[in-house]
Amino acid sequence: MAGKLLELKDVSKAFGAHKVLDRISFGVSAGEIVGLLGPNGSGKSTALNVISGFLPSDGGEIRLQGDNITNVSAQRITGHGLVRTFQLPSMPHRMTVREVLQAGASGNASLASMLKPFRFDDELDELLESFRLTHVADLPASALSGGQKKLLSVATALRSKPKLLCLDEPTAGVHPNLRSDMVTILKRYRDKGVAILVVEHDMLFIRELCSRCVVLDRGEIIADCAPRELEDNARVVEAYLGKAV
Ligand code: ADP
Ligand code: MG
Repeated sequence: MAGKLLELKDVSKAFGAHKVLDRISFGVSAGEIVGLLGPNGSGKSTALNVISGFLPSDGGEIRLQGDNITNVSAQRITGHGLVRTFQLPSMPHRMTVREVLQAGASGNASLASMLKPFRFDDELDELLESFRLTHVADLPASALSGGQKKLLSVATALRSKPKLLCLDEPTAGVHPNLRSDMVTILKRYRDKGVAILVVEHDMLFIRELCSRCVVLDRGEIIADCAPRELEDNARVVEAYLGKAV
């Protein structure tokens, strides 16, 4: 896996006796979009939490651009260029949508107020526009709907110019029309060299966006292939595609 932007080797995580990740290995190359799939409870969010330093792993090694980031703090990992969003984003109180975007992924309120005088920020206005948040830009971020919070968290993550963006179910709760907009936006960032690891259930979104999919089931990776190959994989159909998840 030499030369990968992100490399996981034999990464494990258990909660008590429950082995959620059992020596999983995969990689993400620069400029690649990889889907992380699997039934509910298969460990997708746990994998993102371990990769981004929000949970310690029990074993194995994680490298970002060759640097060992295993069990390094989330803050330092962000400094290495890995930015993530959460399945259920929480928004800071007393900050408007625009201020959250201004502060970037750090959610740093004092930074936002420092930046406040720079009202004419093309990239910020462009992000608000692309994610259809312009009309709510001056509302408190905590007042947004679940879908709008998702959009704002993805926009905020992009704003901090990540090398690797990890997204946890970015389209859950988002209107279907906006999902295709998100595909277009994410591809634009991929074309600028951003790598993306995305947990997602919407197969249309996956097929349009991802060049590869890693499928988790009961602690193991049961497939690592192109999206179009998933339907021909009996284990994937049995564990995931053929079931309501
Ligand atoms: P997914 O994102 O694929 O739906 P998760 O990674 O959230 O799955 O969870 C995988 C399993 O680990 C689930 O059985 C869940 O209950 C368990 N789990 C996740 N986080 C914790 C935790 N902090 N403590 C105990 N069990 C957890
Ligand atoms: Mg999850």
